[in-house]
Amino acid sequence: MITYRIATIPGDGIGKEVVPAGQQVLEALAKASKSFAFEFENFDWGGDYYRKHGVMMPADGLDAIRGKDAILFGSAGDPDIPDHITLWGLRLKICQGFDQYANVRPTRILPGIDAPLKRCKPEDLNWVIVRENSEGEYSGVGGRVHQGHPIEAATDVSILTRAGVERIMRFAFRLAQSRPRKLLTVITKSNAQRHAMVMWDEIAVEISKEFPDVKWDKELVDASTARMINRPATLDTIVATNLHADILSDLAAALAGSLGIAPTGNIDPERRFPSMFEPIHGSAFDIMGKGLANPVGTFWSVVMLLEHLGEFDAATRVMQAVEAVTADTSLHTRDLGGTATTAQVTAAVCALLEKSAVPAANAA
Ligand code: ATP
Repeated sequence: MITYRIATIPGDGIGKEVVPAGQQVLEALAKASKSFAFEFENFDWGGDYYRKHGVMMPADGLDAIRGKDAILFGSAGDPDIPDHITLWGLRLKICQGFDQYANVRPTRILPGIDAPLKRCKPEDLNWVIVRENSEGEYSGVGGRVHQGHPIEAATDVSILTRAGVERIMRFAFRLAQSRPRKLLTVITKSNAQRHAMVMWDEIAVEISKEFPDVKWDKELVDASTARMINRPATLDTIVATNLHADILSDLAAALAGSLGIAPTGNIDPERRFPSMFEPIHGSAFDIMGKGLANPVGTFWSVVMLLEHLGEFDAATRVMQAVEAVTADTSLHTRDLGGTATTAQVTAAVCALLEKSAVPAANAA
């Protein structure tokens, strides 16, 4: 029996509702398993922690979670604290501290979901967006001088390094190669950004030679938004810089029906550090504490967490339970046009998992 050590960081807003729901799903899974268990440790970092201590997480916080097998994260964001403090003080501190350079965002239209693209069949939209997660537009390089004066100036410098681009390209080509269509689209903006994005394009060509069986093409980021809407079936795996993928993946989540469904993994492919899994939505203070939060994005993140741990059968069981629940419109939360609560959706997924328990004889 293997015990996985999981750090839970609910953070702010509805993160405090969906992360416990995700933990419940993992607990239901473990109850039904003879081969693995989970040991959870919860960390109360985020906006409330900031109000008490002046920081979003303690200075030695990374050391407290360094030894974990994975992190389940909720969201960071608080109406009373500037966004750049909540983001840089917690989520990015973990992503950068643990060099989780590949941000992976699968998008599909799950059964029962009424997605906005009426001409798109559910099977036409099956994408994974790979977002460069360690540099580019969010490298944090820049500065601000002469504040408040007419000559005030500020910069955010986008940095791309050869090492950073090579590793994300290699990750994306490898991921594309592992998917049935072996198809990769490299998003660029090298027509307007004539230094770093040109290097990005050149490195894509170089790395593509290591993956002769992967078909790939290049698309300008602006054109790719139209392609996602007009020709979704021409896309499969997509790789883009930090900012470009940030925007495209919100569009992808909306096209799949709701922000509340979409998951993401912040991955250290070399496994030097724990990887972190989270729903892509934010803290959604408008619906906080009302039981309205859709926990499906967190459950799908749990699926990614299980895949990362190598527990593929368990991951498939959770995904099947989630799909059975989304197929039942009486279990839709308000964002999907239903009336179900976070607790009802969670209980339904847990009940299915307990029913689908692996018989002892099959357990490893
Ligand atoms: P942040 O500033 O932390 O990014 P936000 O409230 O600005 O948070 P999101 O939380 O990403 O932005 O989402 C915008 C809106 O989408 C929310 O106000 C909420 O109404 C809705 N929403 C987001 N996630 C969910 C969810 N899991 N379930 C239901 N509705 C959601």
